[in-house]
Amino acid sequence: MPEYDFDLFTIGAGSGGVRASRIAASHGARVAVAEEFRIGGTCVIRGCVPKKMLVYASMFAEELGHAGRFGWTVEGLSFDWPKLRDFVAADVDRLEGLYGNTLASNNVASFKSRATVAGPNMVRLADGQEFTARHILIAVGARPVMPSIAGGDLCISSNEIFGLSEFPQKLVVVGGGYIALEFAGIFNALGADVTVVNRSDVLLRGYDRPCVERVQAIMAARGVRFVMDAHLRQVERRADGQLQANVGSQVITADQVLVATGRTPNTAGLGLDSAGIALGSRGEIPVDALGATSCPSIHAVGDVTDRVQLTPVAIREGHALADTLFGGNPRSTSYDHIPSAVFTQPPLAAVGLTEDQARKEHARVKVYSSDFRPMKNLYAPHAERGLYRMIVDEDTDKVLGLHMVGPDSAEILQAAAIAIRAGLTKADFDATVALHPSMAEELVLMR
Ligand code: FAD
Repeated sequence: MPEYDFDLFTIGAGSGGVRASRIAASHGARVAVAEEFRIGGTCVIRGCVPKKMLVYASMFAEELGHAGRFGWTVEGLSFDWPKLRDFVAADVDRLEGLYGNTLASNNVASFKSRATVAGPNMVRLADGQEFTARHILIAVGARPVMPSIAGGDLCISSNEIFGLSEFPQKLVVVGGGYIALEFAGIFNALGADVTVVNRSDVLLRGYDRPCVERVQAIMAARGVRFVMDAHLRQVERRADGQLQANVGSQVITADQVLVATGRTPNTAGLGLDSAGIALGSRGEIPVDALGATSCPSIHAVGDVTDRVQLTPVAIREGHALADTLFGGNPRSTSYDHIPSAVFTQPPLAAVGLTEDQARKEHARVKVYSSDFRPMKNLYAPHAERGLYRMIVDEDTDKVLGLHMVGPDSAEILQAAAIAIRAGLTKADFDATVALHPSMAEELVLMR
């Protein structure tokens, strides 16, 4: 008889949990996973994937708007929110099925239940069933923080926005991070009247300032209103059914108020005290470089550790943990040169240091930039310009960071991130022949 019911019991079947479970099983471990909502987690069910589909949908508005100049006649143009919503939901169902199949085909036992920690080697399901496990992995992710103000319950989070029964003609978006700005861009392009409310005057904290300012200017030119340095104080439902958001001294009416002011680790009521694990100041589970908590049999990966809240990072952490515990290959995840993108319209993509960070860490920094009008936009009614900025260490010529605003910048940046991670220099970029005509050629033409 084995000493434990399972070698690994994973709580949470999201990006990190599914990857860790699958890889652990492929190393021969007996694995179980408990998921309280839907297999796939935030990214697949109500994050990156459905969000990107909405981005694609909203881009048609711009493309079709330009089509006339290219000789196309597009008649009877209209937009149907329920059709888009149901199309996205159907694809999410499909992906959830694929994730479930992956677990089943790797012989991972799945429990559709909330689970909590009942001791260093014990997991308890919501129905009271208990299982022992040699290792427990906590991969429960994070959830949106909602405001504790009068009428806060009338607001929605990104969880609800995908399933709205009606298209919000007037939308207030509270927050200045990537989730807030992405939804502001999506709904603005789809035809909503969008106001972004941010408590400070800084949007997209941590991203390159000139690039953020470019995105904001273009979003504003496209019709998004920004109310900066303002707090959402109260939300009320009016007699006509509309919402009234009290923001600073202003009153803004809206069909929906979307709050996207941050995400907090899902650790409440998880029973971590039963294993002697103390939470960090943000509710996160502190872990070492190998994903171990202060309890040797309990590990954590992904958003619940509040390090870098991105899907590819959670996946890498989960994979590394499974290799460490069951693959005879202890390894940690590198957090250097993590590329990221904000899928606004236009998108902003970045890797490495910003100019401010570079100036703190390096004695001599040179910034190269290209402020250009993408060829695609030459034929568009607006005059939006792209902006690429390359941050270089003048002493070594190494590229320290790259920040890009413009069509397809996320697609272009992923390739450039390989070069930057490999430690290539500005001279290496310059020595590369341009691919013409493209926007990406600006990368090798920056002066
Ligand atoms: P999750 O994927 O959140 O999985 C945790 C799972 O645990 C969930 O399914 C949850 O239901 C379950 N769970 C929680 N508690 C329990 C319990 N007690 N018992 C059982 N199950 C439990 N990242 C990107 O890289 N690119 C993007 O473009 C991007 N866009 C995003 C857009 C939005 C709107 C949001 C909200 C997030 C986005 N993210 C994006 C972030 C990304 O979704 C997360 O970083 C990623 O999902 C984290 O993976 P995880 O495994 O840590 O947690």
